[in-house]
Amino acid sequence: MSRRKRRLRIDRVLICLLILVGLICIVRFTIYTIYGFKILNQAKKGETVKLYHDNANLWKSTVKYINEDMDELTYTYRNYTVTMDSSYFKKNMNIKPSTENKKITNNDFLKQKGLYIKNNNIMGIASKIKLKLPHYLYKNGYVDLYGIDENSNYILLESRVKVSDKFFTLNIYENYTDYFITYVKLESIKTTQEYVLTEGDTKEIKLEFNPSNATNKKVTYSGYDENIITVDHGLIKAIKEGKTTVKVKGNDMSVAKIKIIVNKKKEEKKDTEKKEEKPKVTQGDDGIYYIDGIMIVNKSYPLPESYDPGKLLPEFMDAFTEMQADAQSDGIKLWIQSGYRSYDYQVGLYDMYVRQDGRDRADTYSARPGYSEHQSGLAADINNPSDSFNGTSEAIWLKENCYKYGFIIRFPENEDEYTGYKYESWHIRYVGKELSNKIHEAGDISLEKYYGIESKYSN
Ligand SMILES: [Zn+2]
Repeated sequence: MSRRKRRLRIDRVLICLLILVGLICIVRFTIYTIYGFKILNQAKKGETVKLYHDNANLWKSTVKYINEDMDELTYTYRNYTVTMDSSYFKKNMNIKPSTENKKITNNDFLKQKGLYIKNNNIMGIASKIKLKLPHYLYKNGYVDLYGIDENSNYILLESRVKVSDKFFTLNIYENYTDYFITYVKLESIKTTQEYVLTEGDTKEIKLEFNPSNATNKKVTYSGYDENIITVDHGLIKAIKEGKTTVKVKGNDMSVAKIKIIVNKKKEEKKDTEKKEEKPKVTQGDDGIYYIDGIMIVNKSYPLPESYDPGKLLPEFMDAFTEMQADAQSDGIKLWIQSGYRSYDYQVGLYDMYVRQDGRDRADTYSARPGYSEHQSGLAADINNPSDSFNGTSEAIWLKENCYKYGFIIRFPENEDEYTGYKYESWHIRYVGKELSNKIHEAGDISLEKYYGIESKYSN
């Protein structure tokens, strides 16, 4: 072969290669412009590919599934399962958790270090985001998550969330655009210094935490004489006459002491026991119905429109926090899916259900405005408010353990005729440990059955 011929052949090969590269570029450009995807790996039917997109808006309409680690998004597109690396979107979604850019407007948190997350663009797109926590947060082992509403109110959404590594999974909630993750150190515990009980009595230990928004309110009770009392989850049971002291120890080295005196039970006349009447429902000046000091909200006893605690009450949150942490050590993850709901919110919700299913059916699962326990600030839906939650390990754990923390399953199975609602394994109500223990001992019956009261709309 002559040198000229060889050169010609090399040229031809080069030209062919150039044309080929050109064609590939055109095809890729076409795919890119038509579908808007920049494909890194060619997708085959049913396969998973890495895919980036310049227009983050597309994510909004196509996201179907976020994997467990939340670093990839998977969805199906024209028979292709496409996985997107969400790090790209995180960058473009303006999720910049940083302590430098925080604008803390709430006085309770002015000096509080934490992660402030501005989250406008993620709303309605992702259900959760995985964040890396700075050392000063994860070293405590727990964090609190606050949602910040449009009026700059800090609402405690998840408290004492255990962080076993540096990562925190931020669940995206309705109504909040910004979030604040922090740890507030417990300075001291205050309590009634002396309790006087009679043999057989039970009494709940009331603790006051300073600051009240301390993250870790987990305490241990020790040092008492077990022949005189037992203490279980803060509930004292008086066994035998005598005196003893309970040492209350918080996780942040805070300590309090309570003196306990148990008196001998006097021989009671049986007549007086018989005379004891069942407590009756009374209406307070505030328009709220109570029975035996317990707020009652059902189809017979509505809350006034003006009653608006604005959030879940501290007694609910404190008890829930304790329960959430104990559940977690049993491998059960519990979270508040829906807590406080205002009167106005319930107006919209109930109207929607009535339009969807008609009034009669809507009444079996949704409360009319004013009649929802969610307005009380003492009730919440846990994890997943739907029948598919029934029988899950989380639902079973909740049913078996919630009474220890002062909660009851508000609408138990087969109690529709008393409560007026079908079974809701996810809806819990805080009633305090004394009542929750009594209801548990009575067989986890409904509040209505326990007190012998009705729950029926008058019209
Ligand atoms: Zn509910």
